[in-house]
Amino acid sequence: MNLLDMVREAGVIGAGGAGFPTHVKLETKADYILLNAAECEPLLRVDQQLMELNTDEILKGFELAARFVDAKKAIIGIKEKHKRVITRLEERVNALQLQDYIEIKKMPDFYPAGDEQVLVYELTNRIVPEGGIPIQVGCVVLNSETALNIYNASQGMSVTEKYITVTGDVPTPLTVKVLIGTPILEVLKLSGIHNFEDYAVIDGGPMMGPILENLDGFVTKKHKGFIILKKDHHLIKKKSLNTESAKRINKSACEQCRMCTDMCPRYLLGHSIQPHKMMRAINYSVTDIEGQKSAQLCCQCNLCELFSCQAGLYPKLTNLHYKEMLAKLNLRYKTTKTQLETRSMREYRRLPSKRLTIRLGLNKFDNEAPFTKTQLTAKTVAISTSQHVGAPAVPAVSVGDKVEVGQTIGKTPENSLGANIHASIAGEIIKIEKDLIVIRGE
Ligand code: SF4
Ligand code: SF4
Repeated sequence: MNLLDMVREAGVIGAGGAGFPTHVKLETKADYILLNAAECEPLLRVDQQLMELNTDEILKGFELAARFVDAKKAIIGIKEKHKRVITRLEERVNALQLQDYIEIKKMPDFYPAGDEQVLVYELTNRIVPEGGIPIQVGCVVLNSETALNIYNASQGMSVTEKYITVTGDVPTPLTVKVLIGTPILEVLKLSGIHNFEDYAVIDGGPMMGPILENLDGFVTKKHKGFIILKKDHHLIKKKSLNTESAKRINKSACEQCRMCTDMCPRYLLGHSIQPHKMMRAINYSVTDIEGQKSAQLCCQCNLCELFSCQAGLYPKLTNLHYKEMLAKLNLRYKTTKTQLETRSMREYRRLPSKRLTIRLGLNKFDNEAPFTKTQLTAKTVAISTSQHVGAPAVPAVSVGDKVEVGQTIGKTPENSLGANIHASIAGEIIKIEKDLIVIRGE
């Protein structure tokens, strides 16, 4: 089996949160391969700790992927402030004699440094075309944990564990390794909070993560962090607002100052997205479909809603409204730009993470979340068949079957985009539902 087959068999997906099957990214040739170690969402602490703890495995996984796609250079993008991790990476890159191949590029501390297209520009000076993907400018981007999973796959290990930061307004912020399929509530309780009546949980980073509607779910390969905050925290209130109320507020107050546009990271890359125009369109019921298509260039980083707009409005949501409307009409933005140039003010409009954290009201929770070995041993796990981009995995087991750790229990349907899933504990299959396979431990 070559690396691509091993990665496919092991069910590796993008561990940064998007969940795109990694083997598809390896089915290509690239000039550059980039390790996204920017970890730009405030409060999340997985990637930096993983790179310190599993440095060699991540570097080897990254190198394996880089050689596989014939990259002429492999670049690690990490924020300059992570000095200890950078020193460790430099030491191990030299020790593994990879210094001529792997470069470590230090990035300023801004949001969203980890947005794929922003990262590509910061590390290579290339601009991904509007509505495009990094490979169109010869780049493949991998997250640090994904590189670790690629290394594990090369050693015959499937993805059965996930690293997660649990933090926020909690007594014990921490980062843990848990089995896929563990009840989320058990993971949340590791924070020292046991009664969640007064709390809400953000699934992922505070900028892009949604409020977790149901705490009774199970850990998937896509989980990266849980931010626990009191229900009356303004970020929770803002994220909890329903779409109809947001639309009403938008209509009443947009002053067309265009700060949402001027600060937008995709606009600053030279793309045509202009959220203030979408606000104008929705408020005045403009029916210019061609103009509205630029909403599809929004990466939903949320910077406009949670920082730029001083009136507290919802331009991202407006983009989303147009995206959904255009999807129903099966209409896509088509770029006419053959040459892209960043906006002249870009350098000065990258948002410092510290300012963002203060604005979000999270500065007092911006603490270490140290990696902690947990005694959490799930007796029963429920593994989702749909924890990735693409078609759900088709169960490859039946109720009553005995399974071993790492055994494939769900397979990607033939000729489909998707990822295999595996048993994270040894035991018996006790239930197979539409989108879950439940294993009871031995
Ligand atoms: S949405 Fe906010 S930032 Fe954007 S133009 Fe309107 S008032 Fe200004
Ligand atoms: S969410 Fe707002 S700031 Fe982010 S890309 Fe979309 S329009 Fe731009």
